[in-house]
Amino acid sequence: MSGYDAVFVGSGINSLAGAALLAKDGWRVCVLERNDWLGGAIKTVDGLTAPGFRHEVFSSWHPLWVGSPAYAELKPDLDRLGLEYLNTDLPTATAFPDGTSAHLSTDGAVNAAELGDAWQRQFDEFMAAADIAFGALGTELWSTQGLSLGRRAYKQFGRRGLVEFAGHSLRSARDWLQDTFPDERVHGLLAPWVLHTGLGPDQAMSGFMTQVIACALQLGGMPVPRGGGANLVDALATIVRGAGGELRTEAEVEQILVSEGKATAVRLAGGETIPASRAVLACVTPTQLYGHLLGEGDVPAGIRERALRFRYGRGEMQIHIAMNELPRWRGDDRLARTPIVHLTPGLNGVSRAVNEADRGLLPAEATIVVGQPTAVDPSRAPEGRWILWIQLQEVPSCPIGDGAGELDVGDGTWTEALREAYADRIQARIAAQAPGFDASILRRVTYSPADIEAANPNMPGGDIYSGSCALDQSLIWRPRPGLPGHRTHLGGLWHIGASTHPGPGLGAGSGTLVAKALLRRRLWRRP
Ligand SMILES: Cc1cc2nc3c(=O)[nH]c(=O)nc-3n(C[C@H](O)[C@H](O)[C@H](O)COP(=O)(O)OP(=O)(O)OC[C@H]3O[C@@H](n4cnc5c(N)ncnc54)[C@H](O)[C@@H]3O)c2cc1C
Repeated sequence: MSGYDAVFVGSGINSLAGAALLAKDGWRVCVLERNDWLGGAIKTVDGLTAPGFRHEVFSSWHPLWVGSPAYAELKPDLDRLGLEYLNTDLPTATAFPDGTSAHLSTDGAVNAAELGDAWQRQFDEFMAAADIAFGALGTELWSTQGLSLGRRAYKQFGRRGLVEFAGHSLRSARDWLQDTFPDERVHGLLAPWVLHTGLGPDQAMSGFMTQVIACALQLGGMPVPRGGGANLVDALATIVRGAGGELRTEAEVEQILVSEGKATAVRLAGGETIPASRAVLACVTPTQLYGHLLGEGDVPAGIRERALRFRYGRGEMQIHIAMNELPRWRGDDRLARTPIVHLTPGLNGVSRAVNEADRGLLPAEATIVVGQPTAVDPSRAPEGRWILWIQLQEVPSCPIGDGAGELDVGDGTWTEALREAYADRIQARIAAQAPGFDASILRRVTYSPADIEAANPNMPGGDIYSGSCALDQSLIWRPRPGLPGHRTHLGGLWHIGASTHPGPGLGAGSGTLVAKALLRRRLWRRP
């Protein structure tokens, strides 16, 4: 039995970043992962579709990571290890069914010219409060830092201004878009980004989240690591190992062991016990943490009951395609250079598809996220060829019907036949926008919500955001009202991961916040 200062359950980005930060400060850390790869939702596979094509099976786009405090701190080490980011000046566009499109650039002047004066006004308005907005997403809100942020906001805006800012932040994307932009094409450009925050365009706070993303895209573009996310995972693992830490795959944690009100060790499925003298950081859902990993006697009934009420969101489907040529998009030739192209009729199209999925229906006209990694990193495919990373974020975990009235969903099980039939509908939509698409496909590989859940227990029902991001499960209320923050009722046990504040994405926010808290505590305790 070897001992560690800190043991991480799961190897998602929050664990890897947290482990690297602690290891660099002298902590002996151990990361335990049930899968046979490290990285959780970061998984790069060579030849997933065909030899020579390199795919991000799950997450692909790294703006949140590149903008994160963890990256800022670890960058010198990551650079030294050869991690390189590639970027673009054309992060996103929406292609409408009539063959026209709307585009967003990293150049503010270009955006103002294409999207109208309203663009510059909203950008300036956001930037005036950007430190508070980004602060809310990067601060441990249930702590003295959260109080300090509140005081800073009060000082900056005044009492009336603060109430106004808070009120505006609660607007839906529909209200924000319609209040701000007279041009419906701008609504269609930005509304699909709501989905990337786990929300729908008619939900509270989705306007604020859309504005955060719109401004972040202009400021940061769409960075991806050259060669794929596995290179980030490898580099973080190298930092941990270099500092004496350990990372193990095929090591499923079955129980967190508690002694005298403190988490002291974890037990693996094979029976091995791994002691943790200072902290256990569990990068899991509340359902797993309080429902399975902690023994019944170690969780007060009220806490377990609150945790088990944690709600999950819609499912997701992922389609990977290898093409023997570059896509021939109808219309603007910038589409072939844009890493994320959304296909939707517009704001109402997104709203309708979300509503159908929320009601258990396969959307008749889904919002299709067509990711083109090769537009930023040509090394992902042989010369003259192309890959698509297609994401559908309006998919019921267990469908009860089809919005188009065409597909038989049976008992709601994601069978191979249902998965492929739904992927055919999506493929046909892309083909209508890109002539010759069907003939260019070498191979298609699809993951249903059930496949995503099987790959990661943190994504029940294929919810890639590890829990609904509705307002009552966000910010100071994540994971649940009554269970705020990352500290748990047990000494030494911390809850991290996408189910906790600041939520999903590759920003590693929760792992970083807890690592920093642990390092601060040690400083206080120094004589
Ligand atoms: C298909 C898809 C596409 C996405 N695209 C993007 C994107 O482009 N950009 C972006 O910023 N975000 C994206 N996301 C979201 C983002 O990837 C996730 O929010 C983020 O990776 C979550 O990180 P995490 O640290 O919470 O852990 P996860 O990545 O969820 O990993 C948790 C790990 O813990 C392991 N684990 C769980 N329980 C145990 C246990 N008991 N014992 C041992 N191991 C355990 C799991 O096997 C898993 O490997 C995407 C997600 C998915 C699924």
